[in-house]
Amino acid sequence: MTDRTPVLSVRGLSVRFLMPAGRRIAAVTDAHFDVAAGECLALIGESGCGKSVLASALLGLLPANAQGAGEARLGDLDLLSADERTLARTVRGRLIGLIPQSPAAHLTPVRTIRSHLEETVRAVSGARGRAAVRAAAERAAERAAFPADHLDHHPHQLSGGLAQRAATALALVGEAPLLLADEPTTGLDRDLVDHTVDELRRHVDDGQRALLMITHDLAAAERIADRVAVMYAGRIVELADAETFFGVAGPRHPYGRGLLQALPDRAFTPIPGMPPALGALPDGCAFAPRCARATDACATLPPSTGGISCHHPHVPEDLRA
Ligand code: SF4
Repeated sequence: MTDRTPVLSVRGLSVRFLMPAGRRIAAVTDAHFDVAAGECLALIGESGCGKSVLASALLGLLPANAQGAGEARLGDLDLLSADERTLARTVRGRLIGLIPQSPAAHLTPVRTIRSHLEETVRAVSGARGRAAVRAAAERAAERAAFPADHLDHHPHQLSGGLAQRAATALALVGEAPLLLADEPTTGLDRDLVDHTVDELRRHVDDGQRALLMITHDLAAAERIADRVAVMYAGRIVELADAETFFGVAGPRHPYGRGLLQALPDRAFTPIPGMPPALGALPDGCAFAPRCARATDACATLPPSTGGISCHHPHVPEDLRA
């Protein structure tokens, strides 16, 4: 947790999918975390671990067969109990600026970037009148380092990097206190990944907004994050300072350790096995079938959530008695 006032405060957030024949799938279970202005929290984990479902819950974009529970406070508002009108008018764009995965796919091919920006300005900012809307759109583009001479281009005329900047400009229009970047580096080459995360970091370093970045890219998380939340099978199993997590001490949860050791520039040793299906979680720790530290207790007793969700976490040298 941070000692600064959180922009977003998530407590006990759970999401269940109601399936045919009364089956329930626990996609997110009892998530707790804060993100403060000037801070980036990277939510990391493999595909299908529940990261994107958690993001959809914050945006009020869960499918009809999903049930959210718990709290996600953004200022005075609980996102989980807000009605659709509030979510559409106040939350999306104004309180949360979304930078989506694959930004080009979210842009309308037949419209220019200027047109996208001006539409968003009209929807989420107080600017009225043609000149004011145009000026606000150009300001957002400038803040995202989107070049003015590309504003009248169509999405297909943009490189991956420029499409990313266009998406960032759209997310910045409403001056939202929280930016939510969903896998912003997917499909980018390594140089562009570094550039993209450095640009995102710039929008946090002015202290005006918080950034929640959802990613499976640990190198990107290491480059940008102040803290990391590791998600496995729908649970946040470790919340740590990035410096500790990526540093000498390393992750305390065996899954986080496994993720780091699978990186090519580390031990390059993949975690054995596959994550469990969210609809078929074991009784005890969901990581037990893949964990070298598992004991009999791990197979039957679920570890508590909050902090390090593990019966036998790694203990760094300096924490040993
Ligand atoms: S609770 Fe047991 S099985 Fe689960 S991560 Fe910890 S040591 Fe491994």
